[in-house]
Amino acid sequence: MIEKQWDLSRISDRIQLRAIQQRRPLSCTMELTYRCNFHCRMCYVRMSDAQAKPYGRLRTVEEWLDMARQMREAGVLYLTLTGGECTQYPRFTELYEELNQMGFLITVMSNAGAYTETIRETFRRYPPRTVGITLYGGSSETYAAVTGDPKGLDKVLENIRFFQSIGAPVGLNFTMIRQNVLDYPKVGRLCQELGLSYTLITDITGHQRDLSFSDALQSRLSPAERACVACHPPEEVALAMENAKELEKKLAHFRMPTAPEEALEPEPDSCIGSHTGCAIYWNGEMGTCISMNGRHNVNPFDIGFEAAWAQIKAEQDETFRRPAACQACSMAPDCLHNCAARRFEGTGSPHEPDPYTCQYTYLLRIYRARQGGTETPQAPSCV
Ligand code: SF4
Ligand code: SF4
Repeated sequence: MIEKQWDLSRISDRIQLRAIQQRRPLSCTMELTYRCNFHCRMCYVRMSDAQAKPYGRLRTVEEWLDMARQMREAGVLYLTLTGGECTQYPRFTELYEELNQMGFLITVMSNAGAYTETIRETFRRYPPRTVGITLYGGSSETYAAVTGDPKGLDKVLENIRFFQSIGAPVGLNFTMIRQNVLDYPKVGRLCQELGLSYTLITDITGHQRDLSFSDALQSRLSPAERACVACHPPEEVALAMENAKELEKKLAHFRMPTAPEEALEPEPDSCIGSHTGCAIYWNGEMGTCISMNGRHNVNPFDIGFEAAWAQIKAEQDETFRRPAACQACSMAPDCLHNCAARRFEGTGSPHEPDPYTCQYTYLLRIYRARQGGTETPQAPSCV
């Protein structure tokens, strides 16, 4: 997560290194809306308008553009547009075109399940630098079960091909939960037919505002299921789920890692994004990344982008302090999903190890050793 091989012949690496050294912003995620055309049962952000009302309001196009001008002056080059479903933001095309004309390099994160011809025309005129599309299954039935839209998959595939036709690079994610886990081979084949690789996402956290707003914690894979799925190729997913029942029993011996008695030198637990990135949520609040929603009480629409950035950076060392339990943990080298933001999502504090992560890592090590100690073939990556 934190280590990177820098290639100084690449201008993008040089820009990033300079931003890290100077603690300056380089990339920003704009979470434009909590609205979405899908109703995914494990979603951490989607809400109805009535549910969202106590938390604020969507920012207007004019407000986002003013913020974008401030970000550009501060040095931001990369923008990621997300939601909810960012294309459901009112006047999305107008905002997107203006941001392109301002010179930002834009990534669009989308479910690709509901584009109007106007949206497609806008993407044709301004192809995104990259598009990140999440898949929720490999059949219409599964899309209905996960997203509530039985026609979802057809629309998504059509829009993936659309992006390919305009030369926009597409990256796929497959978000796996109990309701779509057995579609793993189908999703693999679909991606193969499209000529695209994908990232498997099994690390699901609860709804950021209110756990009752989604079924995330009920529908995610258990730590044992995640570990077994991670160690098998897609075709063996049914076997993996079966094996998880046995592996689950090993949790009887699991104990949460604890901090050592002697005090340790504080260690930074950071990632590149924490140095040079930020996220502004749909209601205008700001954090280091999408997963840090609620950690800082900073609103750049009130105090300006530079002041908000300075405030978040002033809290950085404290926020990204590695827990002593993790510093002393023998499982740390295999603990893939342990960053401050992930801990914050799982426990409400960036300084507390998340039991779900620890149990997963514990079982993954046991299962992998049983498989012959080979590298995990399908280990989920940090997202
Ligand atoms: S597509 Fe994404 S934003 Fe929409 S409901 Fe599903 S997970 Fe949430
Ligand atoms: S989060 Fe990872 S490194 Fe930290 S205590 Fe748990 S298993 Fe160990």
